Amino acid sequence: MGENGCVVADPFKGECYRHTSTLKVCDLSPENTECLMALFPYTKPRSLQEHSITIGTGDRLGLATPGHIRAIQKFQVRPVLAQQSVRENTQTGRTFAQVIQDAAWAVFQENYQGGYGADGDHLKSLQEVKNALDAGVSMVTLDLSEKLNLEAFQDPGEVIDRKFKEEIDEEDAKVLFHLFLNKEFPFKIPHGGFSIQLDEESLKRNVLLFHKAIDFTEEVYKFILSRSGGQAPIDFEISIDETPFPTSPENHLFFIIELNYRGIHIDSLAPRFIGEFQKGVDYRGNLSEFREQFYQHAIIAQDFGNYKISIHSGSDKFSVFPDIGEMAQKGLHLKTAGTSWLEAMRLIALMNPSLYREMHQFALSIFKEASKLYHVTVDLDRIPKIETVQDQELPSLLEQEDSRQLLHITYGYLLNAKDENGKNLFKDRLFHNLTQYEEDYWSLLEKHIEKHINALGLNPL
Ligand SMILES: [Zn+2]
Repeated sequence: MGENGCVVADPFKGECYRHTSTLKVCDLSPENTECLMALFPYTKPRSLQEHSITIGTGDRLGLATPGHIRAIQKFQVRPVLAQQSVRENTQTGRTFAQVIQDAAWAVFQENYQGGYGADGDHLKSLQEVKNALDAGVSMVTLDLSEKLNLEAFQDPGEVIDRKFKEEIDEEDAKVLFHLFLNKEFPFKIPHGGFSIQLDEESLKRNVLLFHKAIDFTEEVYKFILSRSGGQAPIDFEISIDETPFPTSPENHLFFIIELNYRGIHIDSLAPRFIGEFQKGVDYRGNLSEFREQFYQHAIIAQDFGNYKISIHSGSDKFSVFPDIGEMAQKGLHLKTAGTSWLEAMRLIALMNPSLYREMHQFALSIFKEASKLYHVTVDLDRIPKIETVQDQELPSLLEQEDSRQLLHITYGYLLNAKDENGKNLFKDRLFHNLTQYEEDYWSLLEKHIEKHINALGLNPL
């Protein structure tokens, strides 16, 4: 709104109305989003390399970001507000560009000028990296799970020797032996320390586990550098969290020394930690074992390039947050996503009990199929029968681990469910409620994300 001449001349596309001054009503279209970013540069995603603590708050529905901002702006932490994986976009029918647009307008609405990131999460091919960069991400998370040779730590010794000979070039092998054999890598920490040594067999196993993944990382790294041309830096994360076995400190050390040797710089690494980081529920495993290994990962990251340790499936891990926050003060990235979807379901349970009941029943009916896509341990028998639950008790189902996971892994099915006429079964009503009660949704999110940051022990501003 403004003086007629200015409003008509500005680059936003929309329809003008004249009263005492001129009003232009504009769509949140891709073109107008570009105008917004040009006019208010803080609405454009950017690198968060200089910030040691960052939190990824994936917003699957494109409605949650104001709640995320309201929590995060109270602390010395920066958000990656636009964060979706290819898998999530497939389930929700969105693109990286739409994800960034939704975040940009929310940033504008909240007048959040602290800077935020956009993460193309779990990218598995050069083409996916290209698509994400084209859309304007400021962060690439390269998922190496399909490039790792998972047999390398299972095959017997003689098979390892043979494969090493077959797969590894003789000159490369010499370099690897020189870098690692008969070397001790000591790490000093306040109360003692630890050291890592690789004997010939474990060196060969690590080489076979990682060598294709490292070649691929190099290819993608060079591509990103050639694309950014030294202009806006892209934050580069490597994820090896979706593997069937934990990443040992030895694996981590081998991998990072190899990357350093090839001149590849990363900004964060997501190992798979010991124990289980299942979606939307607390940590499962031995706490003291976790503490010990996590500390070693954090120290290796500090000593070999000062990159962040990235925690995937990081929501709701309240029993390990205090340790994580304390040990990774020099570099931490925590990713959450599905937990904000669960807050949407909590809002529905509070505001529209009958819709919640329908969605809950549907989730139960497709649970078996959905559980093939995720690693979760859900016991449906532990979920109270929905017919016996009073309306005012429905939100308590969002406190129960089995029903949390049930709703967590079925989000794609719930969003895509159609009736016999091809109309959305739930999606339209869900979005209608989330918009109608947006302030309530945002305050649920604010409270929930704030609880995470407090548990990490991060400093308020
Ligand atoms: Zn992950």
